[in-house]
Amino acid sequence: MNEQVKLKKCPFCGNEIILTDDITKATCTKMSCFMMAHWLPVDKCNIRPLEDELQEELNIAKRAIRFIFIHDGLPDNVKLICRDTLAELEKIKE
Ligand SMILES: [Zn+2]
Repeated sequence: MNEQVKLKKCPFCGNEIILTDDITKATCTKMSCFMMAHWLPVDKCNIRPLEDELQEELNIAKRAIRFIFIHDGLPDNVKLICRDTLAELEKIKE
């Protein structure tokens, strides 16, 4: 794979995506995947508008919880909830 083109995982199965030799098109490598052998233009293959929107919402939620967490005078149970919630959110892959 060309090092200059960083492809996201397949949007249908999460498997690796491969490129044509001229790096203009890409397809999934999993035989049972809907996208296997459907060669898409590389610039279209990496577009994930819903995932990008959800990632932004996740980032906003993390920032809000961190802001609450560092606030002085919070009851211990609220700090515990903030800490645990942040730990759960941090497990979500970007
Ligand atoms: Zn796939």
